[in-house]
Formats: sequence, structure tokens, C-alpha cells
Amino acid sequence: MYDYLIVGSGLYGAVCAHELTNKGYRCLVVEKRSHLGGNIFTEEIEGIQVHKYGAHIFHTSNEEVWKYINQFSKFNHYINSPIARYHNECYNLPFNMNTFTKLWPDVFTPEEARKKIEEEKKDSYIEAPSNLEEQALSLVGKTIYEKLIKGYTEKQWGKSCKELPAFIIKRLPVRYTFDNNYFNDIYQGIPIGGYTKIIEKMLDGIEVRVNCNFLNQREELSSLAKKIIYTGPIDEYYKYCFGPLEYRSIRFETEVLNSNNYQGNAVVNYTAVDVPYTRIIEHKHFEFGTQEKTVISKEYSSTWNLGEDPYYPVNDNHNNALYRKYKALSLKDKNLFFGGRLGFYKYMDMDDIIESALEFVRGE
Ligand code: FAD
Ligand code: UDP
Repeated sequence: MYDYLIVGSGLYGAVCAHELTNKGYRCLVVEKRSHLGGNIFTEEIEGIQVHKYGAHIFHTSNEEVWKYINQFSKFNHYINSPIARYHNECYNLPFNMNTFTKLWPDVFTPEEARKKIEEEKKDSYIEAPSNLEEQALSLVGKTIYEKLIKGYTEKQWGKSCKELPAFIIKRLPVRYTFDNNYFNDIYQGIPIGGYTKIIEKMLDGIEVRVNCNFLNQREELSSLAKKIIYTGPIDEYYKYCFGPLEYRSIRFETEVLNSNNYQGNAVVNYTAVDVPYTRIIEHKHFEFGTQEKTVISKEYSSTWNLGEDPYYPVNDNHNNALYRKYKALSLKDKNLFFGGRLGFYKYMDMDDIIESALEFVRGE
């Protein structure tokens, strides 16, 4: 008899399995995909670590989490500095002095940039923005909204900016310094050798079954363990009894190119609405690669349909209320615990996932 059956070998499942094993518990991990790691899975192609489920940059200000993850890998000094491409114009992100001086050739200093943005905001300023468009116009004005926000956001979320909640855009920093670092966190980097190795180390010595979908052998697998940690979608576990939660999905088109440098940067966002993908990732630049070839992935954002991979939860009022019903149902079973971004139905970065898994294990 196992103490824990852990459904999913993503970061949340792997940290739980590792820590519970260290505490002396017997764990069995089941994974429906053919590989470990969930969405942080990386695979080596042409000597390059390819992020198969989208670009993953580790960043945190949590000292404990940073120390924790460094047990499993060394990290390089990568700093995320995406480029935004709008038709034939290139800008630095996040919005900073490099962006402003390029957008407006008469702007050179922070004071001039502030003045310019104030002018840009004047016509469209709204006291209490009620949607993303109003929020963006009130924050950065018309030019930045139209060139760098509107098209990208509408492609990513499949909705007009007028229908989207304002909070989505509050995450984007606006800086009056020449600083292209996308994140404000103290620690940042990419694991040398890829993320899959981290998961393999975490799960070393623990029994793992890949190509094993819990839902196809629910009864048999449940009978093997005293407790279950479930990191798949909570609504799927309950057979969508209250109706399905909404997600956004992503399709990745990955190509190997006979070029040693395709775009000169790991991440280029395509902010015009007439380009069908949202961004292109050139994986070698995450690790300062010097290989002869390169691997790129185009990201297409799409509506999620039953049976497809869910990526981003859509945390609007309707879905949050639905999630609370599933959560309440789950609390009736004392030996069943949901976790991770699909179990909690919440967008969580990797550092949040580690913090949350460590907290769960502390209570066991
Ligand atoms: P997952 O990785 O989804 O793992 C869940 C696992 O459970 C999967 O392997 C799945 O196959 C398995 N599973 C589900 N159902 C079953 C079942 N019935 N039976 C068996 N197995 C099952 N975070 C950052 O910190 N930095 C970033 O730059 C970043 N970029 C991101 C980019 C994208 C496009 C996305 C979508 C996310 C990004 N994240 C980033 C977030 C990061 O991916 C998550 O924090 C992390 O992967 C969540 O781990 P998890 O274990 O909760 O979920
Ligand atoms: N965003 C944008 N233009 C960009 C990048 C981001 O308008 O070039 C907006 C978009 O609405 C997105 C939000 O900012 O949903 C948050 O961006 P972030 O890069 O944090 O999103 P991620 O895809 O990493 O979750």
C-alpha cells in the first residue's frame, strides 16, 4: 500500500513526491503523458534545450524557493528582455525609456517621456477604468495601446479589450529607466541542462508510471494508496458535474532552421492583429547557445475545447464561482487533495507552485 498516489508529474507533483518521500512516505506518481515534467518539460533538439510547452523563465523573490530549486540545478544569468514587433517596427519591453525614445524621436529624458505619456493619456483618461481598454489607455495612452497592447491582448485572450477585465494589464510594468528586464524579482535564470533534469532528480528513486491516465483506471489506482494528490483539472476529476471551467489553449509550431540566429532574442512578441501567432521563441538564446542550427516555436493562442490541453485558467467571476463549487465538493473527501495550477484553477508561476507544494507537505 502506498501512502500517496500523486496524479501528474509536473512541478507540483514532483516537489510533493520528493518531499513526502524524504519524510518517509511511500509515493506512486502517475502521468498521462509519455514524459515527465508537465508543462516545464524541455527536450534537447540539435543540442538546444527546447521548452516544449512554452517559454519558461524562472524568477522569484522568495529566498527559500530560490535555495530550494538550486539544489536540483545550476541556473544561468539569463534576464528576460522580450522584443515587441509591430509591423516593421521593433520595441523593447516592458514599457521603459528604450521603448519611449524609439516611439517618440523627440523624447530623450524621463521627464520628456512622462510629459509625452501625460499628453497621450489626456484624451482617453478615465477615472475608474471598467475594462482592459480603458485601463490601458489610462495607464499609457493611445499610441502604446494601439501598437503594443491591443492586437497582442486580443489574440491572446480571443476577446475584444473592451470585454476583458482591467486587472490583466496591471501586471505589465511601466518604467522611466533604460531597463529592459521584464521582471522585478531578485532572482532569475534558466536551469543549465533544462527543466526535465530537475524533475528527474526530484523523482529519482520514486516509482513513476508514464502513459497512465488516472481517469481510465480510477478505482484500481485509488485503491493502491491511502491519500491522493491530484494535479490535473479539478472539473475533469468530477466529470464536469457542475459544467466545464474555461481555459485558453496554445498551439506550438516548432521548427529546426538552418540558421544560427533567427531573431537575435529568445522572445519576440508579435503585437499586430494581422499576424496569427502571438510570439516566436528562439530557444538557444535562453542559454546563450552557439550551435550551428536553431529551433524556433511559434505560439498560437486558441479557445480550449474538451479533450485538449488546458493552459491558462480564465479567472473571471463566472469561472471562479464554478471553481468554488468544485472546491467545496473536494473538501468532503479528507484523503483527496487538489494542487497545482489545474487543481487550484489559478495561474501560478513556478515559484508559486514550489512554495505551495512545500506548504502542503509541511502539513502532512
Ligand atoms: P502541470 O505542469 O500542468 O502538471 C500537471 C501534470 O498532470 C501534467 O503532466 C499532466 O499531464 C498530468 N495529468 C493531468 N491529468 C492527469 C490524469 N488524469 N492522469 C495522469 N496525469 C495527469 N511560470 C514561470 O514561473 N515562468 C514562466 O516563464 C512561465 N511561462 C509559462 C508559459 C506558458 C505558456 C504557460 C502555460 C505557463 C507558464 N508558466 C511559467 C507557469 C508554469 O508552467 C507552471 O507554474 C507549472 O508548470 C505548473 O506546474 P503543475 O505541476 O501545477 O502543472
Ligand atoms: N501584453 C501586451 N503586449 C505584450 C505583452 C503582454 O499587451 O507585448 C499584455 C497582454 O494582455 C497579456 C498581459 O500583458 O495578457 C500580461 O503579459 P505577460 O507577458 O505577463 O503574460 P504571460 O503570457 O507571461 O502570462
